[in-house]
Amino acid sequence: MYTVPKLDDYSPDALDRAVAELLRSLEDESAALHDESAYKAFRDRWLARKNGVLTQVNDTWLKAAPGPAKRDVGQRVNALKARVEATIERAHEKLHASSADAKFAEERLDITLPGLHRPIGVRHPILRAMDEMVAVFKAMGYSIGEGPEVETDYYNFESLNFPPNHPARDTQDTLFIAGQDAKPLRERLLLRTHTSPVQIRTMEQQPPPVRIVIPGKVHRNDPLDATHSPVFHQIEGLAVDTNITFCDLKGTLDHAMKAFFGSSVKTRFYPSFFPFTEPSADMQVSCIFCGGKGCRKCKFSGWIELLGCGMVDPNVFEFVKENGYDSSKISGFAFGMGVERIAILKYEVEEIQLFYEGDVRFLEQFA
Ligand SMILES: [Zn+2]
Repeated sequence: MYTVPKLDDYSPDALDRAVAELLRSLEDESAALHDESAYKAFRDRWLARKNGVLTQVNDTWLKAAPGPAKRDVGQRVNALKARVEATIERAHEKLHASSADAKFAEERLDITLPGLHRPIGVRHPILRAMDEMVAVFKAMGYSIGEGPEVETDYYNFESLNFPPNHPARDTQDTLFIAGQDAKPLRERLLLRTHTSPVQIRTMEQQPPPVRIVIPGKVHRNDPLDATHSPVFHQIEGLAVDTNITFCDLKGTLDHAMKAFFGSSVKTRFYPSFFPFTEPSADMQVSCIFCGGKGCRKCKFSGWIELLGCGMVDPNVFEFVKENGYDSSKISGFAFGMGVERIAILKYEVEEIQLFYEGDVRFLEQFA
């Protein structure tokens, strides 16, 4: 512990020398401070009430001073006190500033270093195929329609003229929402099995003419295999106007396939059946892989089946008759295609699972 020497000589010169001596050690100690604990020890040594240097100065110099010298000593002690307090405060500030400097130096960023390269993602091939096909129809003046994935039986089946025993209504195919048994059949909820409900929803919203293309996700209770998935995507189309004929349907789809797969692709139509179109057709495209010569992919027929289509059944228009859909005055066509199917053909993908596995090695080829 530091001990303040007693004074024998109270002359002004002797007092100044004694004060100067104390100030020298104050400055030396202050300059040597490097951390918080050293600073605290320094502060206590000078300011502590019990035995601190200032307390000692007060006791050994001021109180012991003879009467005539008291005033001189008092002035010097006060000046010393102010100096000590100021020095200690400055030491504290300096210590904190230098620790902040050290922190800044540690956290400093070198902005001249080359950055981390993060590859930019790309559209998933399913979305890409969907967007491209939608763009083909948008260019022909179609607008985009959307609807809920959780649908009522009415929109998914009844209003689309699905007979009660149609296989798609079967619980083997359709995923129903649980706990709906108390409701009337048409109000029961299910996961839509096709995007076709949006046709009725659109016709309820707007009178003819209608030209919409409907991309979306659909659900069926199919196990995942090379060509099936319980969740997949469709693009549905609907055109309703006066004097729409099967020729318009053929011309529109032929143009769309050429725009999507390339101008050398040919189309042909085979009779088929769908509850909501009459007549109905399956459309085939000339094999994308062999150009129609015949290969393993087209089972050596030169043709690949791609989508279902047909003229809108007048029974469907009956559900929206009040909104201007009088089948004696208007007609229309509809079509629906699987997005996975067109993506498999366009990108020559072997199995549908590849689209869903999220394997970067597969997805990278679309970058
Ligand atoms: Zn082929």
